[in-house]
Amino acid sequence: MRTDLRSFEKSNCMQNQDQESRNVQRSAKKDLFEAPDYFLVDELLSEEHKLIRDTVRTWVKKELSPIIEDFAQRAEFPKHLIPELARLGAFGPTIPPQYGGAGLDYISYGLIMQEIERGDSGIRSTASVQGSLVMYPIYAYGSEDQKLNYLPKLASGELLGCFGLTESDHGSDPASMITNIKDMGSHYLLNGSKMWISNSPHADMAIVWAKDEQGTVKGLIVEKGMEGFSAPEIHGKWSLRASATGELVFHNVKVPKENLLPNISGIKGPLGCLNQARYGIAWGALGAAMDCYDTALRYSKERIQFGKPIAGFQLQQKKLAEMITEITKAQLLVWRLGELKNKGLASPAQISMAKRNSVETAIHVAREARQILGGMGITGEYPIMRHMMNLESVVTYEGTHDIHLLITGMDITGLNAFQ
Ligand SMILES: Cc1cc2nc3c(=O)[nH]c(=O)nc-3n(C[C@H](O)[C@H](O)[C@H](O)COP(=O)(O)OP(=O)(O)OC[C@H]3O[C@@H](n4cnc5c(N)ncnc54)[C@H](O)[C@@H]3O)c2cc1C
Repeated sequence: MRTDLRSFEKSNCMQNQDQESRNVQRSAKKDLFEAPDYFLVDELLSEEHKLIRDTVRTWVKKELSPIIEDFAQRAEFPKHLIPELARLGAFGPTIPPQYGGAGLDYISYGLIMQEIERGDSGIRSTASVQGSLVMYPIYAYGSEDQKLNYLPKLASGELLGCFGLTESDHGSDPASMITNIKDMGSHYLLNGSKMWISNSPHADMAIVWAKDEQGTVKGLIVEKGMEGFSAPEIHGKWSLRASATGELVFHNVKVPKENLLPNISGIKGPLGCLNQARYGIAWGALGAAMDCYDTALRYSKERIQFGKPIAGFQLQQKKLAEMITEITKAQLLVWRLGELKNKGLASPAQISMAKRNSVETAIHVAREARQILGGMGITGEYPIMRHMMNLESVVTYEGTHDIHLLITGMDITGLNAFQ
């Protein structure tokens, strides 16, 4: 594990300079976020963790919060943030420095995801896909040439990637996919399509999971510009509006043999990547929950009805007290999960439980917070409705709420209730 703290400090300075020349609409509202820490979880973090967390928090306040509502309202991906996310170390935080990663531990990775999702789940999704679903499979399953060729460019944001597993008829059951490759001797011929792919309309490359002639799932690096490959955008989403989602369509795409990930076969390949990403979501969703709680707490102390702040009414206190209780429980769970992950002891079932719990907590907190704000809660003046809509994707992707429950059920009973 290694932390290049200087790069974090340098990044702040560069961001300020870049900001001068940027021409995006910024909100006049100030991001007043104060992180809840009811059980002094900060004491469980190292100085390095806190520095990383605070650096990303500051960036979110200065660069993401002022623009995100506008981009989400317009359903536009703020692509200009990619180099900044890269400078923050958000792409592949745990990938070793020799491949361009930040070489951080898993608690640092979790904290980065928490802070980015405190800003917006769509931007966290971009970082999660790039780090956990594109860089991780190349790092874990790729050849040395593939690692040296792609990872530094992905870490620096020079390349943006996406991850193609889901198909229109094969979502929770990806092993039944029909996208396929045929060995043509000099290359593979790729046919099929993928659906609901984050980043795909803007991606320079895709990690694509397809079955070979024996029906074994294989991973391939497919690059933009290959003949027969297109990535049309899916429009009309009410969730993750600041994140671009699309399809991947393959019509007789000739993929060079050296683009196959050589060190993995079978559905365990994509599932291994999803484990990495789900771990990040377990932390990330809590960021959204914290933002909703903090917004509702502040609003309830300022909003006067019947001659006193609504925070003074028992019904509102019940909501706030339950929110902070659930957030605190989830904070402790993900911190412990991070400790286990650092030791290589976190099981996929533990990650499933944490992802499911954090997202459920966040959705519940967002809905309660929305009520505390009354009519203002549905507007873009506050981040709550955006978080709430975003979380409707987060609860579905990377394994639905039901699927994660079934994983826990199978883990504790030894019985498979999927089929
Ligand atoms: C915004 C967004 C971004 C996404 N990004 C990506 C991406 O980058 N890459 C990618 O590959 N995929 C991505 N996905 C796809 C996502 O992972 C799938 O939507 C998810 O796996 C669920 O598949 P599905 O939508 O087909 O739902 P289905 O699998 O059809 O499920 C529908 C319902 O049935 C339930 N269900 C299914 N099977 C069972 C069972 N055995 N027992 C009980 N209930 C069951 C589910 O829980 C769910 O409630 C994204 C999705 C969204 C919405």
